[in-house]
Amino acid sequence: MANRIWNFNPGPATLPLSALEKAKADLPDYDNSGMAVMELSHRSKQYDAVHKDAMTLMRDLFGVPDNFKILFLQGGASLQFAQIPMNLLGEGKSADYIITGSWSKKALKEAKIQGTVNVAASSEETNFNRIPAQDELNLSQDAVYCHITSNNTIAGTQFQTFPDTNGIPLVADMSSDILSRKVDFSKFGIIYAGAQKNLGPSGITVVIIREDFIEAGREDIPIILQYRTQADKDSLYNTPPTYSIYLMKLVLDWVKSVGGLQGVEKRNQEKANMLYGIIDEMSDFFRGTVEKENRSSMNATFRLPTEELEAKFVADALAAGFGGLKGHRSVGGIRVSMYNAMEPQGIKELTAFMKKFAEKNG
Ligand SMILES: *Cc1c(COP(=O)(O)O)cnc(C)c1O
Repeated sequence: MANRIWNFNPGPATLPLSALEKAKADLPDYDNSGMAVMELSHRSKQYDAVHKDAMTLMRDLFGVPDNFKILFLQGGASLQFAQIPMNLLGEGKSADYIITGSWSKKALKEAKIQGTVNVAASSEETNFNRIPAQDELNLSQDAVYCHITSNNTIAGTQFQTFPDTNGIPLVADMSSDILSRKVDFSKFGIIYAGAQKNLGPSGITVVIIREDFIEAGREDIPIILQYRTQADKDSLYNTPPTYSIYLMKLVLDWVKSVGGLQGVEKRNQEKANMLYGIIDEMSDFFRGTVEKENRSSMNATFRLPTEELEAKFVADALAAGFGGLKGHRSVGGIRVSMYNAMEPQGIKELTAFMKKFAEKNG
């Protein structure tokens, strides 16, 4: 078998081995078609089944209500930063943004080009080490939506409860925690995510959008950027990223095999408990960079006593079979990305390594 390491890359990130092996077996001759999935016509029966299966799995596993459409788009979460306000803002319309990290800032920057935006709260003053509390939110009465980044991939924070916005729908960038826990869709207008952290390979963006948000979209913007265009055609208006969608379908099959959303949520809690457990147990050596109550179950960020030790930690970890642990340059230190597909065993072995490293170097 391939010599795989425990891959803690922040994104693109580790995928379930079963999905990769199925893709490998299918590669030259998919389902007796005599060709690879990526060679099939996107109008063929065989590809259509892959496409529909992926959508159905996504809807069933995540519990997406009937009044939401699931779209498979391209351009990454970054295009959504622009496409959302382009569709929903304009003359006399405004949106609220809660700023909890670099990704929210990028979303805000795009929205400002399209309309009036109000920063309802920001934790930038403390280097995004926390999620603003409910009573800090300065929400507008008439915003079309309130944008949040549910999990802050770089800073290592996560909304543990979603803000109360007086009925104004949340629009959430869930790129790094989609399908990691149960979500109450009644609070949301749009949930979107680049697939390359929790759902599959890069190249596909999942947009889950309430039907009235599609209908309310502007009609004086490019046709390809109107949500109704892809919604009306089941995301087959033009050629979709067929191979990425196929791989995402295999990842969703895997989610189902580990007990669906409930199963992955349980695994994610188990992993986060192990990881933060060792940080708290050896808090003289491992210093968490965010407020405890806002810790992310997907990306754990911490510092070591010196930068030299951090470099040694990353190098020694790699030699021991743990990759992708270097923190983002804006935070420094170490970041452990433990998305859905990271096995609890990987965290078990990593925390044993961490313990030994601290004992030897502390
Ligand atoms: C990775 C990431 C993005 C960027 O996604 P692209 O698909 O590269 O555009 C946006 N938001 C969050 C929260 C992310 O983690």
